[in-house]
Amino acid sequence: MSQALQHLFGIGQLSREQIEYLIDMGESFVELSRRPIKKAPTLRGKTVINLFFENSTRTRTSFEIAGKRLSADVINISASTSATSKGESLLDTGETLAAMQPHVLVIRHSLAGTCEFLADFLPHTSIVNAGDGAHEHPTQILTDLLTLKTQADGYQGKTVTIVGDIAHSRVARSHLLAAQKLGYKIRLVAPKTLLPSHVRQYGCEVFHDFDAAIPGSDVLYMLRVQSERLTDNCAFPSIREYHEAYGLNRKRLAQAGDNCVVMHPGPMNRGVEIASDVADSARSRILDQVEHGVAIRMAVLTALCGAAPEPEKLSPKKEKAAAAMQAQGKLL
Ligand code: ASP
Repeated sequence: MSQALQHLFGIGQLSREQIEYLIDMGESFVELSRRPIKKAPTLRGKTVINLFFENSTRTRTSFEIAGKRLSADVINISASTSATSKGESLLDTGETLAAMQPHVLVIRHSLAGTCEFLADFLPHTSIVNAGDGAHEHPTQILTDLLTLKTQADGYQGKTVTIVGDIAHSRVARSHLLAAQKLGYKIRLVAPKTLLPSHVRQYGCEVFHDFDAAIPGSDVLYMLRVQSERLTDNCAFPSIREYHEAYGLNRKRLAQAGDNCVVMHPGPMNRGVEIASDVADSARSRILDQVEHGVAIRMAVLTALCGAAPEPEKLSPKKEKAAAAMQAQGKLL
C-alpha cells in the first residue's frame, strides 16, 4: 500500500490493493449479518455520525446498520432536521458535530467535493463520502464489486454495461475510475443529452443504441434518471420514449448471454429504466447489492476506525495484507 489515508472521499484516491482489501473485508462481514445474533464488538466505543443532506434509503440505513452491528454508537442527522434548515452553514454544522468528537462522519451532499472541503477543517474526524453530487459514490462501487465477486463469477475482465443518466451519475463516474484500476471494461449507453463526451477519456466504449451494447455484456447495470439534477436545458425524452429506447425489458435481456446479470444501485423506477419482471427475475442481483452494501460499510467503518475484522474470517493472504496496513496506523 502506497500511503496511509484517513478518509474515504472516492474510488479515485484508492489503490487497487486498498479496493481489494475493502472488498475482501466486506466479504468476511457478510456472514455476520446472516447470524441469528448480528453483533460484533469491533467498533465498541466508536461514534459514527451520518449527516445526510440528500435523501437516501439504502446508503443511510446500511451505514447505520453496519455501525450498530459492529457495536459503534450511530447518530443520524438529515438536512430537514438539522440546523442547516435554520440557516447554519455547512462548515458550522461540520465543526459543531466534530466538536462532539465522533470518529467518523458519513456525509451525503448535493455538491461535489463537500467531503474534501470539510476534511480540511476537521482534522480529527474521518470522513466518508456517501455520495457527493454527480462526483463519486465509493461505497456503492465497493458494494457492486463485492456482488460481482460473490454472485457473478468476479469482475476481472468482465464487461459492465451501464445504461441511463450517465451525465448526472456519481455511480457511473466511480465505476469508470474503479474499472481502470481493477481491469474490468465499461460500456456506457445513454441518449446523447445524458452522456458527456469527456467520459471517453476513461477508455470506455460509448453507445447510444442500447440493443447494440447488449451482446458481450456480463452485467447490465441500470441507472435511474436523476430528475433532481436535470436542468431545464437538458433535453430528456418522455418517460415512454425513454423506456422504449433505454429501458431493460425481457426482450432485451433475452439478447444477453446466459450468464449476464442485472444490477441497479437503487432506487429503481420500475417501468422507466427497468421493467418490473426483469427487476424481480432470477438474473437480478439487486437485492444482493443491498445485502452487500451493509457488509461493505462495515468494512469501511472498520478500516477508518483503525480496527481489525475478526481474524478467523480472513485467509492467511488477507491477514498479511491487513497486518501490513495496520502497521501504517490506519487501514485506509
Ligand atoms: N443511490 C444512488 C446514488 O445515490 C443512485 C441514485 O440515486 O439513483 O447515487
